[in-house]
Amino acid sequence: MATLDPAAERGTEASSSAAAASTTPCDVQFDDYHLNERIKAICGNPGSPPRGSRSSSSDRPDLHSASDAQDPEHNHPSCATCRRRDSKLPTGLIPCIRCKQALYCSLDCQETDEPAHRPKCISADRAKPVYQEFIDAYRLRVEDEYVFAGIATGVHNARQHPLKGFIRFLDHAEERHVVPRWWSAETRKACERQAWFGEGVQHPLDKISVIEKYQDPLKPMELRILAERVYGWPIPGFTYTGAEI
Ligand SMILES: [Zn+2]
Ligand SMILES: [Zn+2]
Repeated sequence: MATLDPAAERGTEASSSAAAASTTPCDVQFDDYHLNERIKAICGNPGSPPRGSRSSSSDRPDLHSASDAQDPEHNHPSCATCRRRDSKLPTGLIPCIRCKQALYCSLDCQETDEPAHRPKCISADRAKPVYQEFIDAYRLRVEDEYVFAGIATGVHNARQHPLKGFIRFLDHAEERHVVPRWWSAETRKACERQAWFGEGVQHPLDKISVIEKYQDPLKPMELRILAERVYGWPIPGFTYTGAEI
């Protein structure tokens, strides 16, 4: 089971909580146009939450089969080494066998890129559980903020697309270096897609569900600490008492 080992996988400590004390996530201004474009690239629906967004995933189109090459942001995929475009090649681009994210025009180009690509290359099998920890840390935080502080974000805010808050969450995670070493623009995109097409951010997740899902009574605390490191500040009105776990 893939876990986020703070020493091995994460970067430096988040900045001091004193600096974060004067702000809240809601105070941080983001470019809404940029956010909407990101959401559109993932699910094609930036304006409003989807109808029945709390229902099961079966009524949503399954885009799992769509490859990166068909991703709206990859209209012109090119070789990671020589930048030759797919359309100019008779056989098309070959994806890296492990991550299926880096594309190459030839084996030569793949070998050339290998040293640079290796740290970023991670198999989907290994990456998916890590993405899910970020997704679940965000979902639990949304639930905690609603329950303990009366703040309606994410799935509790019907006027906002459920992906918005999660994209901001990942922005914070990158800014504070609370991401694995292999994190890249490509893996982030895969994480965002999983947050929508997998067990995603449109479904609420509370503490009891976390314990049941992971079969681990300490998991809610682990996810809460991850979310706190991402935002740099705890949930307002919520103190870890130990009784929580
Ligand atoms: Zn090439
Ligand atoms: Zn790879």
